Amino acid sequence: MRNQLKHYINGEWIESTGSETIEVINPATEEVLGKISSGTEEDLDKAVKAARDAFPSFSRSTKEERIQWLKKIAEGYEARKEELIETMTDELGAPLSVSEEVHYHMGLGHFKQAVESLEDFSFSEDRGGHTLIKESVGVSGLITPWNFPTNQTSTKIASAIAAGSPVILKPASKTPYAAMILAEIIDEAGLPKGAFNLVNGTGSVIGNGISSHPDIDFVSFTGSGSVGEKIMKNAAETIKKVALELGGKSPVIVLDDADVEEAAKTALSNIMTNTGQVCSAGTRVFIPQSMKDSFEKKIVDLLPTFLVGDPRKEGIATGPLVSKDQWDTVQSYIEKGEKEATLLAGGTGKPEGLETGYYAKPTIFTDVSNDSVIAQEEIFGPVTTIITYENLEEAIDMANDTVYGLAGYVVGKDPETVRYVASSIKAGRIKINDAKTDFNGPFGGYKQSGIGREWGDFGIEEFLEIKSVHGMPSS
Ligand code: NDP
Repeated sequence: MRNQLKHYINGEWIESTGSETIEVINPATEEVLGKISSGTEEDLDKAVKAARDAFPSFSRSTKEERIQWLKKIAEGYEARKEELIETMTDELGAPLSVSEEVHYHMGLGHFKQAVESLEDFSFSEDRGGHTLIKESVGVSGLITPWNFPTNQTSTKIASAIAAGSPVILKPASKTPYAAMILAEIIDEAGLPKGAFNLVNGTGSVIGNGISSHPDIDFVSFTGSGSVGEKIMKNAAETIKKVALELGGKSPVIVLDDADVEEAAKTALSNIMTNTGQVCSAGTRVFIPQSMKDSFEKKIVDLLPTFLVGDPRKEGIATGPLVSKDQWDTVQSYIEKGEKEATLLAGGTGKPEGLETGYYAKPTIFTDVSNDSVIAQEEIFGPVTTIITYENLEEAIDMANDTVYGLAGYVVGKDPETVRYVASSIKAGRIKINDAKTDFNGPFGGYKQSGIGREWGDFGIEEFLEIKSVHGMPSS
C-alpha cells in the first residue's frame, strides 16, 4: 500500500495538520493503490508563507542559477524514468508504452525546453525611450489535472523556476504520486527552501484556497471549464492574475485530397491515445461527403488495431478511463449519441473480457450534426464524431462553431489549401498531418478553452510581470 501522507513544504516533507485522507484508485483494477493526505487550509498557509519567504531571493536568482536547477531536475527525472512510468500506469491507467512515449517524454521535454528557452531569454531590454524589465510575477499557485500527471505539472513548474516564481503545487488527487516523485527530484536539485512546495488535497479545499489566497499572486490552472470559472471568480476578489488551460472539442478537417487511411488513423489516435482524455483531442472529424463511405469503412477496419486492455500488458494502446465518475460521464454521452446520430462502432458498456476496471468501448458516431450534444460538449473519452461537409467553407464554419478553441487538425496534401485551413481554424494550436510536437510551441486556447499560453518562452512569460523604467542610468 502506497500511503504517502506528507506534504512538501519549505524544503521538507511534513505531516499534514489534518487527519483526513484521500484514497487513490488504480483504474485498471479498481483497487486502492494507497492514500494521500487531504490537506487543510493551515497546510496551505504554511506553504504560502514558505513561498513568500523564498520570493525575495528566488526572484533575484540569476539566469545561470535557474538553468542549473532546471538541468539538475531534468537529470533527476531521467534517473527515475522507470518509476515515473510505472507510477503513471498505476494511477492513471495509461499503457506502459503511453506512460513512456507520451507522459514521461513530455514531462522531460518541458524541463529541457525551459533550459533552452532561458538561454536565449532576455529579462531586460533597452527600447529607446525606456528600459523594459521582466520580473517574477510573485508567488504562484499551480492546480493540475489527472490526465497528464507529469506534462501539466512539469510545464508549469519549469516555467515558474525559469521566471523565479516560488510555487505551491496542488496535483490532482486522482494522480498524486508522479507529482510527489517530481517533488523528490526537485528536492535533490537544491532549489532554495520554499521555492517549490506541494500540498495534496481536494480541489474544494486546497484548490479553492489557492485561488482565493491573498498572498498568492498568480494561479495557473488546467482542468474543466466549470472549475476554471470558479477560479476566475475567486481570483477576481484579489485581482489575481490567472492562466487557464481548459477543455476543447477540436476539429479534424480532412481535405478531399487526403489519404483516407492517414485520415482515419489521425481520427483514431486522437481518441485512443490516453483513452481520449486529452484536452486538445480532435473529436469532431469533418470529411468531404464524397469520402463518407470509404472513410467509414477504413476507420472501422482500423479500430481493432488499437488494442484496449490491461495497461501493463504489452501491445495495449488504450487503457481504462481514470475513474468510475469519468466512466459514467462517457457512458451518458454515448447514450445521448445513440439518440442523436448513427452508431458505427462501440456503444455503451464495457468491452468483452474487461469487466473489472473503468474500460469503455471505443465508440464512433457518424451522420453527426455539428449542433448535437456529442459534437458540442467535451466527452473526454474514446468517442469520436464524423460530420460530412459539401465544401471547405462549410467545414471551416462548422469547425469554428463551438465555444472552444484549443486545437485543430488538418489532413490533406495541397499546400495552399492546408495553409488556408490552418489559418482559418480559430484555435491556439494546429497540427498538420503527422507533424511532430515542438516543446517551444505555445499551448493554450481561444474562447472558452482558456486564457494564456504554456510551454517554452511563452510559458515563461506567464510567470513574469513587466516593468518599464524611464531614465535608467546606463551601467
Ligand atoms: P477538475 O477541473 O475538477 O479537476 C482539475 C483540478 O482542479 C484537480 O486538481 C481538482 O482537484 C481541482 N479542483 C477541483 N475543484 C476545484 C476548485 N473549486 N477550485 C480549485 N481547484 C479545483 O476536472 P475533473 O477531474 O472533475 O474532470 C471533469 C472534466 O473536466 C473532464 O471530463 C474533462 O472534460 C475536463 N478536464 C479537462 C482537462 C484539461 O486538460 N483541460 C483535464 C481534466 C479534466 P481534485 O480533483 O484533486 O479535487
